[in-house]
Amino acid sequence: MNTEATVHEITELSRQEENIPRNWPMNEVDILKSIAENLSERKSTAALNNYEVLCNNIRYVNNLLDEGIEALDMIHGQINSAFQDDAMVTTEFMDQSKRLFHFRKIVPRILLNDISIIRKLILYTQPDDRQGISIENVSALKKTFLDFNNLVTSSRQFIDSLVSDAYQLTLLDPKTTNFQVLTSLRSFNKYATKSIKHGIFNAEVQESLVEFEGLAYNERVRGQESTITKCDKKSFGEKVDFLFDNLGLTAESDFKEEIKNLFSFSSEFTHIGYVSTFFTGSNSREVIFGDNIGPYLPSTENFSELKYEILETATKFYSKIYLPSVISSLRMAIEPSIFRTFENSMNQAITKMISDLKTRNSQYYFFIRQGLIGSNEAIDLTCMCGTIRRWQPPHDLSDIYCNNCGSKFNLLEIEGDPGYVITSSGPIKVIGSSVPDFDDLPLDKQLALLRQCEEKVKEHAKK
Ligand SMILES: [Zn+2]
Repeated sequence: MNTEATVHEITELSRQEENIPRNWPMNEVDILKSIAENLSERKSTAALNNYEVLCNNIRYVNNLLDEGIEALDMIHGQINSAFQDDAMVTTEFMDQSKRLFHFRKIVPRILLNDISIIRKLILYTQPDDRQGISIENVSALKKTFLDFNNLVTSSRQFIDSLVSDAYQLTLLDPKTTNFQVLTSLRSFNKYATKSIKHGIFNAEVQESLVEFEGLAYNERVRGQESTITKCDKKSFGEKVDFLFDNLGLTAESDFKEEIKNLFSFSSEFTHIGYVSTFFTGSNSREVIFGDNIGPYLPSTENFSELKYEILETATKFYSKIYLPSVISSLRMAIEPSIFRTFENSMNQAITKMISDLKTRNSQYYFFIRQGLIGSNEAIDLTCMCGTIRRWQPPHDLSDIYCNNCGSKFNLLEIEGDPGYVITSSGPIKVIGSSVPDFDDLPLDKQLALLRQCEEKVKEHAKK
């Protein structure tokens, strides 16, 4: 009998037993007891993912977000100049008499704030540095309450501020912006010291704040003719729904949930909830794991897993929601011919981020000569990211992935010695065939094959 299966079956059995409550129905003391036990004896956490792959993917996506923010930073200077030039803005923004004139100062300022917030997240989502880590100093990789808290708090600031700012940028509505800024000034004013207040509050702002505080809450949010503020979407969730609708992303309901879930999860951490504090605050000793690079700890890996998830969500949000919202505000404010150049360069950055992100943990198909799997030969599998995986016999089918980008390989076997197959991205060699790689062929042979491809496509089109 297979020992692995036996161990698995035993674990399953004991799990089932554990899941049956001993006292049913449970009373309030039983519940409290289960909480007390769970919050005091942390179960050892299993290493669920491949740490080496996680680190590579974190480095890659962190870089991607960094490039994305550099692109916005570069364009920000030009956007700012355009906003200061009467000839480059649309009528509604043209002079002091126009309702939207003051957004010419506000929009570039919002973008600058967001750039700082995103840079903070980039700083807290760097990959672990594993150089020089040995069994003796592996505890340097241990992740504690402080690490988790900094990571999750910065992602909370990221998602909260960017949703709120994307909402403001999409609307460019004076009353809605007034509401947000005055609400924030009002909180600030409650505790800020005299010298800080002196640096921020000029007489006009003081007057605005007095007027705002003189209004009942209902008057502040309703935005009637006579009032100075308005707030249609009060909660985070309402703003997210609005943004997705506005960008026509109705099919992306899973992604929408992901954004809301990150918000809830990070609230728990930011408000120092019991669960997150307990999870990250344990002082228990950890088992040491190891891979090709060296030793590491389960907390290091858990932390990296979370870091990767946050980075992925943040990068998707930045490219699919935030930048498109910036574009929609520029569309309103900037004269069309100049707007189009901004739109083009921002769309380029968006497309690159989305397609590069898809290369992580992807699925790739390879054609392979029948009989090679299970033979004594090592099989070289070249991933789309360029990394070569040397797949040693016995060829374990559950173990074929790229340890650089985490992509899984699927193999399609072809009989005989098939040479090349024609794919949507051109001819490729069937692994194990007795022909050279397509790229190694002399140019005339390559061209001949490509012509063959073309004819096949034409034949196909005729049918
Ligand atoms: Zn790869």
